[in-house]
Amino acid sequence: MPNSGVYVLWLHLSQRATITVGRLGIFTFPPGVYAYAGSAQRNLQQRIARHRRLEKTLHWHVDYFRAEAGFLGVSVFPEAPKAGECSCAAQLLRFPGAAIPAPGLGSSDCSCPSHLIHLPGVGPELVSLGDAVHHIQLGAAEALALFDAGD
Ligand SMILES: [Zn+2]
Repeated sequence: MPNSGVYVLWLHLSQRATITVGRLGIFTFPPGVYAYAGSAQRNLQQRIARHRRLEKTLHWHVDYFRAEAGFLGVSVFPEAPKAGECSCAAQLLRFPGAAIPAPGLGSSDCSCPSHLIHLPGVGPELVSLGDAVHHIQLGAAEALALFDAGD
């Protein structure tokens, strides 16, 4: 697999959580499935491994949320350019009931309202996640999806 591209992390909160997201602020997140859109123009696999790992220095906004959330899996669009992460975020916002509990999370350097989106219409089961993955299109890039049993 090429080691660059756009990815969507699928995360899960089993209960409501109030989280301090670095200097962005303190936000309350309802329980449920969350999607986070990001990209890595190099070292994509290492980036995803880092998101998966809990032991690390919290650096990115999403790290603070990830520290409290379960890792369900990731979908990847290999070799998609960086702008694709904003396209993913925009598409996720069109999912039924999509909401932004923390405005600005992950979108400091673009004009998206947030790159972390709460998806009340998506369940943490594989079938529901797989269906959600297929609703995200990125040009000719095909999504590869990997899901965990949870952590
Ligand atoms: Zn964006």
